[in-house]
Amino acid sequence: MNKLYLFDIESIDESIVKDGIEFDKEEIEKNLTLFLYPDDSDEAGNLLRIYQQYFMVSSGAQLILKDMKEKKYDLRKMYEHAVIQINDTHPTLIIPELIRILKEEKAIPMEEAIEIVRKTCAYTNHTILAEALEKWPMEYLEKVVPNLVPIIKELDKKVREKYTDPKVHIIDKENRVHMAHIDIHYGFSVNGVAAIHTEILKETELKHFYAIYPEKFNNKTNGITFRRWLFSCNQELTKCISKTIGEGFKKDAKELEKLLSHIDNKELLQNIENIKKQKKADLAAYIKEKEGVELNVNSIFDIQVKRLHEYKRQQMNALYIIHKYLEIKRGKTPSTPITFLFGAKAAPAYIIAQDIIHLILVLEEIINKDPDVSPYLKVVMVENYNVSYAQKLIPACDISEQISLASKEASGTGNMKFMLNGAVTLGTSDGANVEIHELVGDNHIYIFGEKSEQIIDHYKKADYVSKEYYNKSPVIREAVDFIIGEEALRVGSKENLERLYKELINKDWFMTLLDLEDYIAVKDKMMEDYLDKEKWQKKMLVNIAKAGFFSSDRTIAQYNEDIWKLGE
Ligand SMILES: *Cc1c(COP(=O)(O)O)cnc(C)c1O
Repeated sequence: MNKLYLFDIESIDESIVKDGIEFDKEEIEKNLTLFLYPDDSDEAGNLLRIYQQYFMVSSGAQLILKDMKEKKYDLRKMYEHAVIQINDTHPTLIIPELIRILKEEKAIPMEEAIEIVRKTCAYTNHTILAEALEKWPMEYLEKVVPNLVPIIKELDKKVREKYTDPKVHIIDKENRVHMAHIDIHYGFSVNGVAAIHTEILKETELKHFYAIYPEKFNNKTNGITFRRWLFSCNQELTKCISKTIGEGFKKDAKELEKLLSHIDNKELLQNIENIKKQKKADLAAYIKEKEGVELNVNSIFDIQVKRLHEYKRQQMNALYIIHKYLEIKRGKTPSTPITFLFGAKAAPAYIIAQDIIHLILVLEEIINKDPDVSPYLKVVMVENYNVSYAQKLIPACDISEQISLASKEASGTGNMKFMLNGAVTLGTSDGANVEIHELVGDNHIYIFGEKSEQIIDHYKKADYVSKEYYNKSPVIREAVDFIIGEEALRVGSKENLERLYKELINKDWFMTLLDLEDYIAVKDKMMEDYLDKEKWQKKMLVNIAKAGFFSSDRTIAQYNEDIWKLGE
């Protein structure tokens, strides 16, 4: 049996939350577990995060030690009884905390304590965005976890005795502690979360560590639970599949491939299309009630739901919408009406993210109210996007937008949820999209944009200049100029729109304009292909059939097989 423990404290006081998410960040006793990922744009926010991390990690360490004591296990053989999977850098303090407990409370010498912990801990990397890898200033750690500071310094000293390259040191010259570096030196396994992501870690981001510890590196491609993302959110499709291939796929997701032998079954293909239509109608009714917007169920549902981040490039999708709007205004109407749906959360201090949301809301206002355009286009950004909303949106999707800048999306899991529900992916060669592409083949996915090697090369040479793309392409220029044109300024805020415009033409750190023309061409092709009903039905079927690999049951089995090595 598996147990899930939730750690909490009794002095939490919800009444300290003012309007929105404002609260006194310094009242640790009252706020410690109030918010997951509280705003960390100032020192108090950072200290709160470290308090949170330490609280969770120390509670976990105590739980493991208590369990070992009850079972009379030898602490020196902790690694035979427990594996600690350090899921992203947030729980990294478990390493110095366990060393501290073994040394100070269990009288195990430091050297031995380090080796016990090293054999117990494994690290999963979830991002290659350098700014997302935690680097805590030593002075913050001194304030929150002074007991751990001498241990962290000792861990760094040992690294420095062996390796002179500062890139692998734990404490940098600005006296910041690189949490991922602790994990890699003082754990036995390092894994990425999709094949391409693990390769980029080995070749680029963590290559200095890979040179030292090649045997630690391994891949575990992410998965999703089919209990939630098929059986529960799409009971109609689940029943249809059961009727066709039996119930075996519920226990063994790979059995979905049995659907492939039914690829010429016209009745099945029509059923799958009918279910999609039903889910679109269900979603339309929900959106009418929640957002007050009427959707055309016969339009293509093009959906981009995920955290708002520049690397995920919601702004590129918005520029496509502007492009379509301008085409319709010039009299070129699309072959099928299109509904663009967005859902996203953004970090509270992420200004450009708010500007991108603002642009999408401006487009929603302009397009939905324009009688020339609204028969062909609708734009909706749903409010308060969350898992419950995702369970309604994903089964209703025709086109799954997975358009991150190649090399930047570690895996993605939204991409898997969509394919499982019969959406066709429009994506870059990034994260798990690469494995989806390999599984479904060229005819059942739409891939565009520059590849990860090219992007990594652009960063290395610093040779991407967004202004050049803006200057040389009239299509790009008119779409970008629309952001600060009079129509947008009539309904939007000048400050937000101008800031986003300037960002796009002067910085565009995530290379939106680089891939925009290819994105428009491939997306237009996709819209055309949608008209061939039977072909599209087959694309849906192949995507569903090939999704079995992305069951989290497979992912967990691989973690167990290669890293945890737990018995039955
Ligand atoms: C799956 C999921 C995500 C992750 O989506 P990506 O497209 O992989 O970034 C984010 N938010 C919610 C609510 C989800 O269900």
